[in-house]
Amino acid sequence: MRKTCQNYIQSISRTAKEIVIDMTTPRIDIDLAKIAHNAKKLKGIYGSKGIGVIGVTKVVCGDPRIADVLVKSGINTLADSRITNIKRMREAGIKAQFVLLRTPPSQAESVVKYADISLNSELSVVKILSKFAMNNNTTHKIILMVELGDLREGVIPSDLEDTVKEVMSLEGIELAGIGTNLACFGGIKPDEEKMGYLSSLARDIEERLGLTLEFVSGGNSANYTWFVSTEDVGRVNNLRLGESIYLGCETLYRTPIPGLYTDAFTMIAEVIESKIKPSIPYGEVCQDTFGNIPEFQDHGQIRRVILGVGLQDVLVSGLTPRLDIDILGASSDHIILSAKQVDLKVGNEVVFNLNYGALLSVMTSPYVIKRYVNGL
Ligand SMILES: *Cc1c(COP(=O)(O)O)cnc(C)c1O
Repeated sequence: MRKTCQNYIQSISRTAKEIVIDMTTPRIDIDLAKIAHNAKKLKGIYGSKGIGVIGVTKVVCGDPRIADVLVKSGINTLADSRITNIKRMREAGIKAQFVLLRTPPSQAESVVKYADISLNSELSVVKILSKFAMNNNTTHKIILMVELGDLREGVIPSDLEDTVKEVMSLEGIELAGIGTNLACFGGIKPDEEKMGYLSSLARDIEERLGLTLEFVSGGNSANYTWFVSTEDVGRVNNLRLGESIYLGCETLYRTPIPGLYTDAFTMIAEVIESKIKPSIPYGEVCQDTFGNIPEFQDHGQIRRVILGVGLQDVLVSGLTPRLDIDILGASSDHIILSAKQVDLKVGNEVVFNLNYGALLSVMTSPYVIKRYVNGL
């Protein structure tokens, strides 16, 4: 049900003195209780068929407050694509097992130091990890990624057995499992056939080499549709989840997952100008800021509202206003709205839902204030 407009506009009747730093804009409100709810719920859903959940923190830049919520919700393995984020969480005292999702050889020393497990698809990189693990007298675990059609990272399946043998011969390295990543670069669906194939690869390796794989990691938030429809998850015993925890949806069709919150994050910006102006610019048309020649439709005189937020803060195309208003465009520092029937005044706050790209950009932008609400 659509709430009334007024719920989505907050007015500044506050005096200047009352405007504390965490209420300034642009701002993202992060509802920790909603994230906790989603994390627990997903852990339960996947756990019902024997699948463990790794919580992926890269979209929130390894934010320790959020990582803490995941751990308190029972997710004790966290994964991130950046060693700096893993370091940030460790230094904040987050007690979890850490998985690195992307392994650059130049950072091998830190990988061994800060990550317990890393995803790998190049033997040459695993050899460097082996060298540093030996130097540091530690064992580093790896999950070998297998290419199953999405054409991002992964060993070609026909090379898998030889690669596994080589990995097992390396000192300081322990094979923790195999995994795959679909629906990322190529948009390929993790379906019954792909998951069945991953299971059969896992079983083959286990039988031929006489070992047990701790992880058979079938994918990410895009695996939900397969999961709910499959009779048998096979050897797949793990998924790495980011988006479905934070935004409450699966990622093949972006359908909300029943019982999850889709509004744990809220983007907030404030009105800095609100005037009746023409709907098309006047004068000679040339390029805009970004080198495009803009085109506009004539709707006569409209209420044009400028928000103090722009592309340096957020991927504007990933924002959806909760009010019935239209985003006309954006520059580095401004979003231009058509307010339609909504009476937006200077100082009002306007709130938006974010998609994954918008969330990624906001969490990464140093200009957007992060405000935590409903802390545990
Ligand atoms: C980002 C990432 C994930 C998480 O993907 P979501 O769609 O956010 O669930 C899982 N695995 C790998 C290798 C990733 O890079």
